[in-house]
Amino acid sequence: FSENLAGKVVVITGASSGIGEHLAYEYGRRGVRLALTARREKSLQEIADRARDLGSPDVIVIRADVSKVDDCRRLVEETVNHFGRLDHLVNNAGINTVCMFEDAPPDMSLFKAIMDTNFWGSVYTTRFAVPHLKNSKGKIVVMSSAASWMTDPRTSVYNASKAALTAFFDTLRIELGSEVKITIVTPGFIESEITQGKFLQRDGNMEVQQDMRDVQVSSIPLGSASGCAQAIVNSASKGDRYLTHPSWFRVTYLW
Ligand code: NDP
Repeated sequence: FSENLAGKVVVITGASSGIGEHLAYEYGRRGVRLALTARREKSLQEIADRARDLGSPDVIVIRADVSKVDDCRRLVEETVNHFGRLDHLVNNAGINTVCMFEDAPPDMSLFKAIMDTNFWGSVYTTRFAVPHLKNSKGKIVVMSSAASWMTDPRTSVYNASKAALTAFFDTLRIELGSEVKITIVTPGFIESEITQGKFLQRDGNMEVQQDMRDVQVSSIPLGSASGCAQAIVNSASKGDRYLTHPSWFRVTYLW
């Protein structure tokens, strides 16, 4: 059974590029009302315009840093104040670094930033969204990763952040029972800024900036962000527990 999404209200974190950007287009095509959030407001505004052109009746942009608990509270509040409800929360914002554990700054700031964004950002946002999602019998989408079962050197904390997300949301699914459905997504390599290390250039952290494509197995093609987004919206609207794909598993088998 696939939910009719027209008129529903969806929050997408990390909507300023990559998979999140294409989720905005995919939900927009289905007539969903959208709250798009990330730190780059100009990109969000451009993506909001395109989502409206594709069919979304109402799109708002909320500048927020998900590693900050107050921003997560505000993004949910502003969404519900504007639309009066919330139907899907898509926890998509994420960062990565390609850095050997021993080469990272010893204060662990680099690795803490990954956990703060990938894990805590999703947990904070979910905490504020759950009461509204219970009211609407809504859904949560979580961007975990094939990385959660990979042991590639140089992405240890990223891999751990994704494994933590899977464990947390698998448990929360049991706590919430049938009131809120949760879809955990585990993509392999998808073409986006994260696989090019671009976010590190934006943050000026050149010390560990690297193109992530050098860690890829050459025989595995990159998936497209648009194809990934389409699969996610289909899966969430059906209420699937997990979304994975054979090509995403191949990433680990061939490593
Ligand atoms: P992108 O780098 O293109 O997108 C990441 C998004 O997260 C951007 O919109 C960025 O926006 C946002 N973001 C980063 N930090 C923060 C923050 N502190 N607060 C708010 N937003 C933030 O990469 P992808 O589209 O590939 O990544 C999307 C998700 O998919 C991530 O969780 C990633 O781990 C996951 N994933 C990606 C895979 C891939 O191969 N590409 C594979 C498996 C999972 P801004 O900088 O404007 O804040």
